[in-house]
Amino acid sequence: MIDNYGRKINYLRVSVTDLCNLRCAYCMPAEGIRKKDHCDILNFEEIENIVRAAVLLGIDKVRITGGEPLVRNGIVQLVESIARIKGLKDLSITTNGIFLKKYARDLKRAGLHRVNISLDSLDKTKYKKITHCGELDDVLEGIIIAEEAGFSPVKINVVLMGGYNDDEIEDFVSLTLKRDIEVRFIELMPLGEAKNWPLGSFISNDTVLSKVPKLVPLPFMGHGTVARMYKLPNARGRIGLISPLSCHFCNYCNRVRVTSDGKLKPCLHSDQEIDLKNVHPDELKRLLYQGIRAKPTKHRLNTQPCSMVKRNMNEIGG
Ligand code: SAM
Ligand code: SF4
Repeated sequence: MIDNYGRKINYLRVSVTDLCNLRCAYCMPAEGIRKKDHCDILNFEEIENIVRAAVLLGIDKVRITGGEPLVRNGIVQLVESIARIKGLKDLSITTNGIFLKKYARDLKRAGLHRVNISLDSLDKTKYKKITHCGELDDVLEGIIIAEEAGFSPVKINVVLMGGYNDDEIEDFVSLTLKRDIEVRFIELMPLGEAKNWPLGSFISNDTVLSKVPKLVPLPFMGHGTVARMYKLPNARGRIGLISPLSCHFCNYCNRVRVTSDGKLKPCLHSDQEIDLKNVHPDELKRLLYQGIRAKPTKHRLNTQPCSMVKRNMNEIGG
């Protein structure tokens, strides 16, 4: 479906829980969050109905996210039923990767096409510091098992934080030399826990290009592509730069989001929401249509240093 600004909207991101097994410093409060009542979270039938209605409006790409989607009970079953929806061409998940060694093969069998794994440090001590409780080895093992299960290329999301992991840029880039992996550097956004972080934490993705000048730009992939792609000469994998702050990509935005409590968010950086919970399936298509038409032309993150968005990223799903 085409929105009010001529953009083709074909991508839906669904958060299936706001809970998480990690506490990434920029995303989750260190003390965790209050667990919502079961009845306040979308059940599987509601999620399937929302995806079905979205597909009728031209959505053909769905990403399952969270919180941590792999902590949601029955996640494989949910993936299996979404994967069966006719008209859906691409089904992916964003995960911190800790539970991939348990689930990667079953997710592949269930019909999942692609996996993005968030990993902000390759150093055990720093990884634990950023996530508060994560073990780096669990994620590294999860990446290997995901590759073995047939998710290729695996994409690794790295949120760059000045003073935290900007000294690891070269190490992340080197991962692509021998493996068919896509490392995607994402600029930290002033959302959620990162809202009041010092300015020095927010660094432009141009830092990657200045630290690794050998990177060669790849052709622009067109509509819906938010990453600028690069490659090291002779490398198997690729590098993506996702730059919501330094490089406005709202003109190419092709997505809407649904939170785990059923709110449709036309834009990540706006508090505008449409409630899809407890809505009759026949009404969903109309509400989704209304939400897509309501997408703003662009966000104002670059002009307002501190985002006013009330929800944390673990609720919205990134
Ligand atoms: N738990 C899963 C994970 O970490 O991949 C999925 C949910 S997480 C909210 C989705 C993505 O949002 C992760 O890649 C995370 O690093 C990113 N994210 C969270 N807060 C962010 C922020 N303030 N700025 C940029 N990216 C952020
Ligand atoms: Fe959890 Fe993902 Fe947020 Fe980290 S970024 S706290 S893994 S939801």
